[in-house]
Amino acid sequence: GHHNLNAKLVLLGDMGAGKSSLVIRFVKGQFLEFQESTIGAAFFSQTVAVNNATVKFEIWDTAGQERYHSLAPMYYRGAAAAIIVYDITSTDSFARAKKWVQELQKQGNPNMVMALSGNKADLEDKRKVTAEEANLYAEENGLFFVETSAKTAVNVNEIFYEIAKRLPRA
Ligand code: GDP
Ligand code: MG
Repeated sequence: GHHNLNAKLVLLGDMGAGKSSLVIRFVKGQFLEFQESTIGAAFFSQTVAVNNATVKFEIWDTAGQERYHSLAPMYYRGAAAAIIVYDITSTDSFARAKKWVQELQKQGNPNMVMALSGNKADLEDKRKVTAEEANLYAEENGLFFVETSAKTAVNVNEIFYEIAKRLPRA
């Protein structure tokens, strides 16, 4: 039969990794070179059709700064899915992504579908984090991993579709 489901999804990751840019690419098909940084969190929604289901994502795009860290549980609590974003040109952002994964493993919904996004894949010449390293980490931690670019749109729809496919069907 046909299923319609609502899925709360949260984006977590270092400030500047490209969380807002990924959501805006997915929801509006746009990219801004000077994306304003998020204050607190921003809400978006977008519906995708996969297999026999329509999934309405209710997306919380969080700020990422340390001073907003205490707010994060409000956004990931009860979330069906999370995208943890780092910037492939920043080893610090990759380290921060791992911290978020640990926090979700401890405090998040145990059935949460988790995706790791190595964003800014268009900046190959500035790359600091290899795809191999990130892929290995993702495999060890039960996440699925993909490199994305909000700028060129590479793998942006794909990451949301893959999450939609993996959500448990009611
Ligand atoms: P957030 O703090 O994680 O929400 O990051 P933003 O979405 O605000 O992006 C931070 C900066 O990185 C902005 O200047 C964006 O234009 C830029 N940016 C985001 N995604 C990409 C990408 O895929 N490629 C490139 N080259 N720049 C990006
Ligand atoms: Mg933002």
